[in-house]
Amino acid sequence: MKRFYPLIFSFLALGAQARELQINPGIRLPKDSLEASHLIQSLAGFLEASQSENSANTYVLPAEKFETYLLLDEFKGIEASSSFKDEHFYQPQLCNVAPLEEGQYWLQISYFGLKGDASILRASFDLIAHPDKDQFKFASPLKRNTRHWKEYKVGKSHFFYQDSLNEAHAYQLSTRFDVNLKSENKANIVYCCENLIAMERLLGLTYKIDYNGYNSSVWTVNEAGTKIMALGNDNASFENFDPHDLWHARLSMVISRRAVDHSVDEGCAYLYGGSWGYTWDEILKAFKEQVASDSGMNWHELKEKPQYFQTGEHRNSADYVVCALLVQEIEAKHGFEGVWEFLNIGPREKGNAKFYQKLESLLGISVEEYNAKVWELIENS
Ligand SMILES: [Zn+2]
Repeated sequence: MKRFYPLIFSFLALGAQARELQINPGIRLPKDSLEASHLIQSLAGFLEASQSENSANTYVLPAEKFETYLLLDEFKGIEASSSFKDEHFYQPQLCNVAPLEEGQYWLQISYFGLKGDASILRASFDLIAHPDKDQFKFASPLKRNTRHWKEYKVGKSHFFYQDSLNEAHAYQLSTRFDVNLKSENKANIVYCCENLIAMERLLGLTYKIDYNGYNSSVWTVNEAGTKIMALGNDNASFENFDPHDLWHARLSMVISRRAVDHSVDEGCAYLYGGSWGYTWDEILKAFKEQVASDSGMNWHELKEKPQYFQTGEHRNSADYVVCALLVQEIEAKHGFEGVWEFLNIGPREKGNAKFYQKLESLLGISVEEYNAKVWELIENS
């Protein structure tokens, strides 16, 4: 083994990018020194490019780019430490290179920072290196780790799961909002995982200090008309399905949620999907009992100064329910086209001038009539 080290370190001395990639001196590198050099050079290139746009990283294996983008997002800003005020506190170290079939390698890379005598681990990644001429391309091990899983296709959605799948939920994910949002042409790739811990391991993130103490999350990437989702929220069979979140997720496929009015977005999510497991009807009932029971309530003032009500342990903004009622009225009058217009008034601004202008054009009510009209909608609901 020893004969390889001088080669690696002389290479490291030459390459500006690779200087930061440390090679753990105890590891077994490929016996062919040229191959070892290509592997390390490519890996250094991949890590360097990991800080830019995913689609600009030419070291990603094209056939598994979506799966790899999920992992690649975890590399963003990986060297920076806010506590130590150092943009490059954590540095990558190659810790394992194990040969697989067809000239591939299983790599383990960890990011360490040094503080005095202590070495601090930020994250550890697994990557699969695939030979490609004089280079290597890299992929998340997700595809490999799930190669014995089952698959289910519905419309343009492709689900991967280990044992069983709630196909009714899978169908809803693919169809429920997409016709209205005109996004039926968007593809979905969904990996159904037990929890965050299992999901991270499948994806090739064996440790990240940022996620210590957590067991649930959903990771998504939108790229060129395809959305890939890793569900790590108690969702091995896609039983845990929330139409409220689905609304937000499907909307974000066609427009950035930062570009729409947040209260209208939430109003749609409440009306179409309830919230926190409560149906729209249950939420409306709680709203009437806790907020609309006060006959002195001024809905216009509420828009500037939010008030909240409870459903179980969850706090809901009363204004979102008012917006849901307005959305319902607009949809009855103009169909979803009207709702789309209402959403697209842009982000919230103080005073909500655009909100009231759009309401006037869609429902013919002025700012002065707003409070009375909302009371009427509540009474008729
Ligand atoms: Zn929401």
